[in-house]
Amino acid sequence: MTEGPTDSRDAVVVGGGVAGLSAAVFTARQGLDTLVVDAGESILRRNAHLENFPGFPLGVNARQLLDLLGEQAETAGADRLDARVTRVAAIEGSGDVDGDDSDGDGSDGDNSNGDDPNDGARFAVETDGDDRVRTRYVVAATKNEVGYLDGIDGVGILDRGKAYVDVDERGRTGVDGLYAAGRLAEKPHQAAVCAGHGAEVAVTLLEDDDAPFYHDWVAPEGYFTDRGRDLPPGCEEIDAEERREREAASLDATRERFADPHPDPQETHPSLEE
Ligand SMILES: Cc1cc2nc3c(=O)[nH]c(=O)nc-3n(C[C@H](O)[C@H](O)[C@H](O)COP(=O)(O)OP(=O)(O)OC[C@H]3O[C@@H](n4cnc5c(N)ncnc54)[C@H](O)[C@@H]3O)c2cc1C
Repeated sequence: MTEGPTDSRDAVVVGGGVAGLSAAVFTARQGLDTLVVDAGESILRRNAHLENFPGFPLGVNARQLLDLLGEQAETAGADRLDARVTRVAAIEGSGDVDGDDSDGDGSDGDNSNGDDPNDGARFAVETDGDDRVRTRYVVAATKNEVGYLDGIDGVGILDRGKAYVDVDERGRTGVDGLYAAGRLAEKPHQAAVCAGHGAEVAVTLLEDDDAPFYHDWVAPEGYFTDRGRDLPPGCEEIDAEERREREAASLDATRERFADPHPDPQETHPSLEE
């Protein structure tokens, strides 16, 4: 990093394919200020008709699915930036890099109590659009692109013809605050698996953050509270009217999104393009 980054986030997701967008839905819904930076080249854009993604018995246009996932991440509260990340660097002297709760605030990452000059930020992210973002967490979800991670010591890069990031069973890289999700984390080359892994990695991040996270569930009114239980963190109870309103809104949106064929052209392998 040559200059101080200007933007500040809790989490930056690098890569807005199925893995990255799914991760962003979960971090944003739990209140982390989340930015997805995406170069717009999900390999799924080359799919001809997606027939094995859960919930679409006759399949779905893959470009449509990516649009919907992006919209879902935004609805959850995430912002999106069309750009390519060129560098992620560790911020020297960033506080609490060992992941404990040294500031005693109940969260291992949020050192906003004044004892950390970096305010808990561990990483500085740069893009080809000259954006500069400081963040506590990075989720890398860039399929086989790893060059932007060169500036971080301790990231295991696996060369298997294509590059992958070495992670534990929950997507942790071994560098505090840095995670990898989807194909980049050597998950099977399937959209549903990579989307699911993005969600799992985000939940792992939230657990590591000590966020008040239990399950991201929407339950019927009284499901917990009528049984004498507190509403678990991360859960929401909604009454019948609210349920009807949400269902009506989702039906409207679904009708609109699926009224016409998706406008984006079928993409293919670059070697097959003229
Ligand atoms: C022809 C074809 C058909 C397929 N059909 C199916 C199918 O029918 N069913 C199925 O389950 N799977 C299918 N797949 C596989 C599926 O597309 C992938 O497994 C899945 O998309 C992987 O998800 P991901 O999020 O890990 O990676 P991707 O979806 O590729 O997303 C990675 C994202 O990271 C972005 N990125 C990369 N580097 C950077 C950077 N430095 N900064 C910012 N952004 C960056 C890319 O632009 C991209 O948007 C198909 C693949 C192909 C090629």
